[in-house]
Amino acid sequence: GDDDLDTVPTPLPLVSSFHRERRWADTSSYAAKKKLQSWFQLPNGNWELGKILSTSGTESVISPPDGKVLKVKTESLVPANPDILDGVDDLMQLSYLNEPSVLYNLQYRYNRDMIYTKAGPVLVAINPFKEVPLYGNNYIEAYKNKSMESPHVYAITDTAIREMIRDEVNQSIIISGESGAGKTETAKIAMQYLATLGGGSGIEYEILKTNPILEAFGNAKTLRNDNSSRFGKLIEIHFSETGKISGAKIQTFLLEKSRVVQCMEGERSYHIFYQLCAGASPKLREKISLKIASEYKYLRQSNCYTITGVDDAERFRVVTEALDIVHVSKEDQESVFAMLAAVLWLGNVSFSIVDNENHVEPLADEGLITVAKLIGCNVGELKLALSTRKMRVGNDTIVQKLSLSQAIDTRDALAKSIYSCLFDWLVEQVNKSLAVGKRITGRSISILDIYGFESFERNSFEQFCINYANERLQQHFNRHLFKLEQEEYIQDGIDWTKVDFEDNQDCLNLFEKKPLGLLSLLDEESTFPNGTDLTFANKLKQHLNSNSCFRGERDKAFSVSHYAGEVTYDTTGFLEKNRDLLHLDSIQLLSSCSCHLPQIFASNMLTQSEKPAVGPLYKAGGADSQKLSVATKFKGQLFQLMQRLENTTPHFIRCIKPNNSQSPGSYEQGLVLQQLRCCGVLEVVRISRSGFPTRMSHHKFARRYGFLLLESVSSSQDPLSVSVAILHQFDISPEMYQVGYTKLFFRTGQIGVLEDTRNHTL
Ligand code: ADP
Ligand code: MG
Repeated sequence: GDDDLDTVPTPLPLVSSFHRERRWADTSSYAAKKKLQSWFQLPNGNWELGKILSTSGTESVISPPDGKVLKVKTESLVPANPDILDGVDDLMQLSYLNEPSVLYNLQYRYNRDMIYTKAGPVLVAINPFKEVPLYGNNYIEAYKNKSMESPHVYAITDTAIREMIRDEVNQSIIISGESGAGKTETAKIAMQYLATLGGGSGIEYEILKTNPILEAFGNAKTLRNDNSSRFGKLIEIHFSETGKISGAKIQTFLLEKSRVVQCMEGERSYHIFYQLCAGASPKLREKISLKIASEYKYLRQSNCYTITGVDDAERFRVVTEALDIVHVSKEDQESVFAMLAAVLWLGNVSFSIVDNENHVEPLADEGLITVAKLIGCNVGELKLALSTRKMRVGNDTIVQKLSLSQAIDTRDALAKSIYSCLFDWLVEQVNKSLAVGKRITGRSISILDIYGFESFERNSFEQFCINYANERLQQHFNRHLFKLEQEEYIQDGIDWTKVDFEDNQDCLNLFEKKPLGLLSLLDEESTFPNGTDLTFANKLKQHLNSNSCFRGERDKAFSVSHYAGEVTYDTTGFLEKNRDLLHLDSIQLLSSCSCHLPQIFASNMLTQSEKPAVGPLYKAGGADSQKLSVATKFKGQLFQLMQRLENTTPHFIRCIKPNNSQSPGSYEQGLVLQQLRCCGVLEVVRISRSGFPTRMSHHKFARRYGFLLLESVSSSQDPLSVSVAILHQFDISPEMYQVGYTKLFFRTGQIGVLEDTRNHTL
């Protein structure tokens, strides 16, 4: 008949992540009809809405709102939702779930500053790149009192608090998305809500102050984001039994050290360097021999010193104030700044060739002398550490002189180590200050702000680790959302056969399998003194070629089929980054120096050889220290993280970046779509809808469609009976719905039929 609109097939359940069809297949059997609104695709890939004027088999004539008339292939038309569904709060409510409809719905809301939308259980947040009037005490109050219910970070945070108290289970808020999508801002908005609701003791104030500190030391301007976090972060906020915040604990992951010594044109190193150079008092400048930023090679190389709209000197004041608040003493602060200055001066150390074998020594100029002064060693020791390498062979010690590139690597390794130890030390200090509620008898809410899936033109070790982490998080996401969905059916008593799904375990195995997995092979090759990136790449090809998630590529490259797409990694630098060696000479130097923070180095580096943590160790060529490889350490952290998250009720927020220019008001369909696909939001809605995604209470259903009944059903009849009568009259086949104790559950699109008839009748 004429309302035969609803021939949308039930989406298939997920198959393996590698071979999955990524487009929604809602289009295949769409019966295009005259007068209907329908989506069609413009040559640039964007979708537009038009009215079907006529349709004759393979061709249809469609009229977009601009009055033109176009001929299109009928099979390319995609059904649009009825107007009443414009801008729905939850994508699950869409009768037709297809890419253009989802994009349109999000854009409809975004244009009205409604940047939050639910995708079933997941909150989607689209970065507004401007201030939106959605935050502050009035809003917090409204969400707390439940007088406001539209999707919001506040709402999801409120749910977390309520569930923590109600179920006595720890909660987590897991935020993901690309760089610049708004994760860190979202985390802060959630923290603000928690601080307001759980505040009182004063500790919440300290917790909020950790943000400017960690951002100064761990964030930098990149081409994608002026305030890009270069580390992952989990903050666990503890609550007392009365629901008040009693303390917190921060864990960080994988700080991008390389930025300290190297960054791209137009990007910056860590904010704190520029803040220090711009904001230090004359007294401090003199004490730590500080110059302006452009005097330092590490900062000069990228040719970018300032960020539009940011006053680094003012930020420096904010950071020192925050350090005061988290109880870092003025003396320690000064030591931190001295170490930062030492790092900057290290970059200025230069070398000259001293023999006919091209060995080098550092010049005893201002750079070298200032570094020695700042870290508290004599110039001779520093010179030696930067130009030679001691190696123990049996009982003998061999001293090897360094070439220019080796010396530069040694210098940069020292700078990176000092900085990353400083970062870890600061986190430790912050944690000491936040650990006031020692008796952690209560519950906690953890907020995870971690780098999303990355796929660039050239992908290196960092992307390898980040994408591995995302693979783990995705598994958590899938498993959890599948479970939740199915539990609701069972709770409402409907007849439901459990859907199994193939997750991304294959890809995780590719990484984790021992001894023939990516991580094991990387560690193995890292222990070989003669191992190179090329031998590593060859070994991967030799052992992993039969794995369906792996593909050897030309030269030193390989590809992995991640859940979010295939990524090609270039192994250049993998071994060195994984070994992350600091040579014995540098370690000895740092342990003997008289700078003010020897404990920084003591706790973070020197003990690595003395009390190695669990996990495989390796002894790498040329150095005597035994330490965990970066990948192994990261894997350990990740496992620990997953274990912690496993014991919490998760709440997911997926942040989306609507354009690449960080500008308000611009919504690029293609870019948004790619992220929706990547972060699995489409899948979640699709998974959810593979069951009975549309729910309506018996009551609401009877009220909305009851008047369509041909035989008047007496109003005294209960909503369930009215509902069943409607279902029968419209001949909705029994596979298409389920009657629960309180609600009716429908398959995709069923409500559309009723809604259309209702609109024609009204
Ligand atoms: P990510 O952590 O995902 O890389 P950020 O949270 O740092 O991204 O966000 C990048 C920028 O986007 C912020 O500096 C801010 O200018 C803007 N932004 C993000 N979220 C919001 C928001 N809710 N309201 C206003 N601006 C935002
Ligand atoms: Mg961030």
